[in-house]
Amino acid sequence: MADVVSLGCRLNLSESEAMRSMLAAEPDLIVINSCAVTSEAVRQTRQAIRRARRDRPAARLIVTGCAAEIDRARIGAMPEVDGLLANAAKLDPRAWNVAPIAALPSQERHTRAFVAIQNGCDHACTFCVIPQGRGAARSMPVGQILRAIDTHLDGGVQEVVLTGVDLTSWGCDLAGQPGLGQAVEAILRAFPTLARLRLSSLDGVEIDPLLFELLTTEARIMPHVHLSLQHGDDLMLKRMKRRHLRCDAAGLVERLKARRPDVAIGADLIAGFPTEDEAAHHANLTIIAELDVVHGHVFPYSPRPGTPAARMPQVDGAFIRHRAAALRAQVAVQRRLWLDALVGQPQQVLAERDGTGHAQNFARVQLPPQTPAGTIVTLTPTRVIEGLLA
Ligand code: SF4
Repeated sequence: MADVVSLGCRLNLSESEAMRSMLAAEPDLIVINSCAVTSEAVRQTRQAIRRARRDRPAARLIVTGCAAEIDRARIGAMPEVDGLLANAAKLDPRAWNVAPIAALPSQERHTRAFVAIQNGCDHACTFCVIPQGRGAARSMPVGQILRAIDTHLDGGVQEVVLTGVDLTSWGCDLAGQPGLGQAVEAILRAFPTLARLRLSSLDGVEIDPLLFELLTTEARIMPHVHLSLQHGDDLMLKRMKRRHLRCDAAGLVERLKARRPDVAIGADLIAGFPTEDEAAHHANLTIIAELDVVHGHVFPYSPRPGTPAARMPQVDGAFIRHRAAALRAQVAVQRRLWLDALVGQPQQVLAERDGTGHAQNFARVQLPPQTPAGTIVTLTPTRVIEGLLA
């Protein structure tokens, strides 16, 4: 079986799963499914390439993914690399010269399945290179989504995670321009036995009314909304070319929690965006408590090639690191308050293979010994230990 090394986002994860299955009969092959969202991601990609070559000196090493698109010259020039493959071609058996396969990957390794229903992006956030790497926004038609989920459910998966680059733009290129809410509704209707449906990162202002209704009323949709928030300061949001202001995000969370009080909020936040001063950083810090962000992904800003933000006055690296640490510390405080409040409340936990599991709100939970992976168990935590409910 080919070695497929996956870096970056959940979309890459689901594509790597598909490549693993498609390339099952290719023993002397290493595939690096790379990421270029930050300069750190590119550094990790180069590190993964060197490590893979060291481990398997004789194998054919192909790099695909966003770093192979965006940093083509430098990645291609690495002596360890035998070839590059475009993002758009990586799931095409012809590109690998292998026979097309019918079934999707077996899921014995996973209890949750990532289903990539959307790809690419039509927005132009000033810090982001993803549109360069992934191309224009495009959606998987509903029929194809249902077939993909059907195969995963046949494999015994208990939870499906819908993922994409700009998930809320799903449908924009399909006839009648359906909203993401319609895709979710079709999935819930087609699979009455699907226990758990989770959505990955959402652009808050693009959540359509049907999706909002389903998110706040449908028990099988996990009470966990991860927002592509990026910053808490309006001037920074404008300079990022985001489509929302602080009040929009705050209003959305208020409406979500009014309809579904147990919903857990996650958010992506960038530290040290160009021209960010102390006041803007403070606004970034305070939005964590205001929106009750308990799942926070903090990205230290790094200039990406060809982006408008890379041409703006940059914040000093030491300030970026310091502010990123402050944001992470604030998220940790918010998260601890949330976990403490969950003690004594029964949780529906999907057991993973490492002795822990995920509750519906994505809290991590310590499992009793011998809990079979892939089962859903009800546990009432009595304490918090190292960030886990136990
Ligand atoms: S919405 Fe913005 S941040 Fe997200 S992928 Fe598109 S351009 Fe990048």
